[in-house]
Amino acid sequence: MHQQAIQISVQGIVQGVGFRPFVYRLAGKMQLKGSVANSSNGVFIELQGTKKAIATFCSRLENEPPPVSRITSITIKEISVQKQRSEFIILPSLQAEQANTQISPDIGLCSDCIRELFDRRDRRHRYPFINCTNCGPRFSIIKTIPYDRPNTSMDVFTLCPQCEREYHDPLNRRFHAQPNACPTCGPSLSWHDEDGESITANDCIAACAEALARGKIVAIKGLGGFHLAVDATSISAVATLRERKHRREKPLAIMVRDLEQAREYCLISEQEEELLSSHRAPIVLVEKRNNTILAENLAPGIGILGLMLPYTPLHHLLLADHNCPHALVMTSGNLSGEPICTGNDEALARLHGLADHFLLHNREIVTRVDDSVVRVMAKKARMLRRARGYTPEPLLLAHQTKNVLGCGAEMKNSFCIVRNNEAFISQHIGELTSPLALDFYTESITHFQNILETDFQAVTCDLHPDYLSTRFCEKLPQPCKQVQHHHAHGAAVMAEHGLDGPVLAVIFDGTGYSDDGTVYGGEWYLADRRGYTRLAHLSLLPLPGGDVAAGEPWRMAMAMLYMAAGTNALELQRLPEALLQIDTGKRAVITQMITQKINCPLTSSCGRLFDAVAGLLGLCLIADYEGQAAMQLEHQAAMAGVAQRTNRYNPALKDKEGVLILDSRPLIRQIVEDLQQNVAIPVIAYGFHQWLQDGSIEILRQLRQQTGLDTVVLAGGSFQNKILLEGITTGCIDIGFSVFSGEQVPAGDGGIALGQAYAAMQG
Ligand code: ZN
Ligand code: ZN
Ligand code: FE
Repeated sequence: MHQQAIQISVQGIVQGVGFRPFVYRLAGKMQLKGSVANSSNGVFIELQGTKKAIATFCSRLENEPPPVSRITSITIKEISVQKQRSEFIILPSLQAEQANTQISPDIGLCSDCIRELFDRRDRRHRYPFINCTNCGPRFSIIKTIPYDRPNTSMDVFTLCPQCEREYHDPLNRRFHAQPNACPTCGPSLSWHDEDGESITANDCIAACAEALARGKIVAIKGLGGFHLAVDATSISAVATLRERKHRREKPLAIMVRDLEQAREYCLISEQEEELLSSHRAPIVLVEKRNNTILAENLAPGIGILGLMLPYTPLHHLLLADHNCPHALVMTSGNLSGEPICTGNDEALARLHGLADHFLLHNREIVTRVDDSVVRVMAKKARMLRRARGYTPEPLLLAHQTKNVLGCGAEMKNSFCIVRNNEAFISQHIGELTSPLALDFYTESITHFQNILETDFQAVTCDLHPDYLSTRFCEKLPQPCKQVQHHHAHGAAVMAEHGLDGPVLAVIFDGTGYSDDGTVYGGEWYLADRRGYTRLAHLSLLPLPGGDVAAGEPWRMAMAMLYMAAGTNALELQRLPEALLQIDTGKRAVITQMITQKINCPLTSSCGRLFDAVAGLLGLCLIADYEGQAAMQLEHQAAMAGVAQRTNRYNPALKDKEGVLILDSRPLIRQIVEDLQQNVAIPVIAYGFHQWLQDGSIEILRQLRQQTGLDTVVLAGGSFQNKILLEGITTGCIDIGFSVFSGEQVPAGDGGIALGQAYAAMQG
């Protein structure tokens, strides 16, 4: 039969995911000769055989690749037929000039490995580091590329003969599984007391489960960092953790054994189940059920809970232990504001006093990766925190460009490197305020440059002169473009959806620096990739004390009362009851600041408006975490019965020199009246959401007339609010708009870096 020979080059996530064995087996089945090899430029395949076999091979390569691989491009080239090709072989890795291969994110334990883990006859029975090419650590253990064992933190473990055989057997599931290990040759656990002294334990997992059952706090070394674990069904254990971590109310995520258990505690949709059990295994925010055995102080004042399933063998073993509590708090092992711990010594030092025990292991975590957080809203999975399971998978952009570094913002920082048409968003770095966080940030940028083998021709950052990311950016030698915070928010959504604009962008956010001296945050922009015009915004509010006001919603409530009803609204007998809980002296100081305009910058922030309303309603006077007031207000609104869901507050629009303003003062006056009439809190909370939705849609309707545009982009941290995102999305679609919002990219500041890079890109 007529012979053909071709060369195929495959790019994408094709290394460390069982790609070569798949190719090897497929070629064998099709009786094709040739070779396959990894290079830092992708996977190279040479094939020789009948035309028909080659065609079948190509179609199966494209349509049935290994489960966790992701092909971004396949190039096929015909080459000359050679007589000496008599078999199909796997060649050693080749080095290529430019890195085009992507590193796989860390992958949750696969079903084959779970089966072996609990199989008494298997040699890896109960081995906490079992993995194969379809699962296991990746990004978190990689020091450099190409992805080969000597370039990972598995380099210190020498494969035993049995593991070695598996590693070299193309038909084995562990063929070239770089972290391959077994109890004989691989990493192992150790059990320690609060001072780090090692305790001899027959079974570290059993010891850990038993400690957790006694209400102890255990620091557990995981995949991308440490968790602090505690019994999630014990109020006192959770309270102790809160006390030690100085977290009064921040919601704590939990891990449960399986979906069945999860359904006992939460209402979970099919889409949410799929996310929970996917190989990315993120934390999914789901609706809490009432009256479960879960401790009520897990997520005070809100109706949702962060839930995840076991994703490492260690987690599977722990949750399966008969002593282990049915649900475990698994919160990141750090002090507030600092990055999550990764090293054993580091954890023993930094978590000393927080944890009663340490469950350690000796596989080094090279790269810190937090758990990702996802919420299903408006029918789509939305990334709230992008990290483990997702990083460093790139987004494909509609443009080819020079390489750009987006430095991100300050809160929930991530950075972004655009290489050609791929945008690599870093894992969640966190609050860029501590020296430790800054180290994590700069080291991660260097690491990404190294594994992407790339440098940047341009760099970009926020307008805010005091963000550490801005200062870092300004010191770089490349030309720097500063991008306004909310333009970056909008541009991130445009980048994700391949839009160039112009669009109408609604940005509901906390705060962002602007050129005009006020703090932005509730904006309607006419935006394209490169720039924006502000067409409308929320009415201005004073921020008593500047940034401090963001953490103290009662201050915003006072500011709002003053704006709505003047000085006399701040008199004692007129104050809503909730505000009377605040110390008289403190109130007097803030009153003076507001009335005399001392240290009170003005803001159009949507987040601060949420704060003001939550403060007036007494839901949250002093916040323990960012977004708390808004989350509690959303929860109250969600509790409103169907009959209580009315648009009781009419949006009032003003035109100020061609800029539309959604005036919140009449709203506040009505809310205060409702409070005096003892209208139920959920009714007011829902009415407020509806007011913002109605106002937004009315503004968009007017802006469409003015501009002729009918594409809407929704962005900014306030769109992590399900009622708001779904309400405005549906409302816009109903009147004929096309609506886009963040899915792969967080709506909050975690998405800023991509927006900056997109806005700064050439071409
Ligand atoms: Zn596996
Ligand atoms: Zn071994
Ligand atoms: Fe923001």
